[in-house]
Amino acid sequence: MTIRVRFAPSPTGFLHVGGLRTALYNYLFAKHHQGKLILRIEDTDRSRFVENATDNLINSLSWAGISFDEGPIQGGDFGPYLQSERLPLYKKFADVLIQKDEAYYAFDSEQEIEEMRNRLSAEKKDPKYDRMSMKNSLTINDNSVKEWINSGKPYVIRLKIPETGNVVFNDIIRGEVSVPCKDIDDQVLIKSDGFPTYHLANVVDDHLMQISHVIRGEEWLPSTPKHVLLYKAFEWDMPAFAHLPLLLNKDKTKLSKRQGSVAVEDFIEKGYLKDAFVNFIALLGWNPTSDREIYEIKELIELFNLEKVNKGGAVFDTQKLDWMNAQYLRKLPVGQLCEMLENELIKRNFPVKEKEYLEKVIKLFIERVNFINEIPEIADYMFRPPEEFDENLKIKEWKQDSPQIIKLYLETINNTSEFSHDTLYQITKQFCDENNLKLKNIAQLLRLMITGKSAGAGMFETMEVIGKKIVIERIENFLKNHS
Ligand code: GLU
Repeated sequence: MTIRVRFAPSPTGFLHVGGLRTALYNYLFAKHHQGKLILRIEDTDRSRFVENATDNLINSLSWAGISFDEGPIQGGDFGPYLQSERLPLYKKFADVLIQKDEAYYAFDSEQEIEEMRNRLSAEKKDPKYDRMSMKNSLTINDNSVKEWINSGKPYVIRLKIPETGNVVFNDIIRGEVSVPCKDIDDQVLIKSDGFPTYHLANVVDDHLMQISHVIRGEEWLPSTPKHVLLYKAFEWDMPAFAHLPLLLNKDKTKLSKRQGSVAVEDFIEKGYLKDAFVNFIALLGWNPTSDREIYEIKELIELFNLEKVNKGGAVFDTQKLDWMNAQYLRKLPVGQLCEMLENELIKRNFPVKEKEYLEKVIKLFIERVNFINEIPEIADYMFRPPEEFDENLKIKEWKQDSPQIIKLYLETINNTSEFSHDTLYQITKQFCDENNLKLKNIAQLLRLMITGKSAGAGMFETMEVIGKKIVIERIENFLKNHS
């Protein structure tokens, strides 16, 4: 069997992280089975149309390295791959269902539908479309229907759901799913504006595009019984279904914008590394082994197995994502890290230093950050003199006799030609012993004067990288302004 899967987003603005997970699982599944991955843009809901949304989607997907075999850009034998370019097709297939008496025209006005729903809820009945009440719902064979259509009366086409029995289908992740027909509404297939609904267009295209497996988010599970009935009504073979678990916030509610970013483009903007992000997304609902979390894309493809995807919701843990980013960051070649740091400095209008200097800064801070862009934030003093000095630290460490002590200390370091952290440690230690001072206090004073901050990397390592000339300049400046 040829594996053909698809990612079928509706372009409503941006790529949601849940959408990326769906796209990625489809990609891993296709690659694992040497199958084909199709991108199909489901843009038939004109009320939700957003300018540039398709380009945004495609940009985010290609940033993540998800490539398609067929799609709006790649083309392919089963296109066009934009549903808005396939409209006449859907009408044709809706007519097929009418002919087979599996669907019917309905001419209700919005007001009638509302009255019906109000009446049903007053009677404490399910407010679903009540065919019995719809005197106007007739089949094409009825002459009055033809007259109404010819007179331009607005209509929709609805699927005729069987009145009894169950819809039963198998889900690769969830097993057998069974839903009583009486709980299913007579789904609108063609809307009064002539556009197909998601359900009709989706099933028609999955059939025509020869999709073997429908892999999508759990939020589409309630739609599947309708799709199963559509396949039956058309007498088409059904694809296999797999509904991926919901993504959750840390408090186990459904992942939402209110608790943080959900758009892939926001994560790109924040500086996440592609490989780290994709690795993290891949593990939302699946982990191929129990002993590790870092996987190259090659391994993900090799190990991917839909049967092993969990049913339960997957928590989108940003702390874990940051940790993952740090793991990938630390593995990058130092040359690449230098380039990334240089870009961050340029963005912030910081003075750009030579490569050797950036390399040393990176060695000093790489274990302390999750992102390269944190370095100029937490250690701006590595690139320019501190603009302010931590007030609490100053109150704690800068005492009346401090200027005198520091002047003495300055002489000591002025006289040293060796400015390595080892030497700095030795001479500072000796200085403290001779003057009955604590090394810790001197180190904190140095931190205050040289960095302006209360915490950072090892102080003598920091001084070594900043260099003797600048260290002395900063101490002298501080003395000048604080004596
Ligand atoms: N257009 C739907 C979406 O926006 C596709 C759901 C499906 O994959 O069937 O996610």
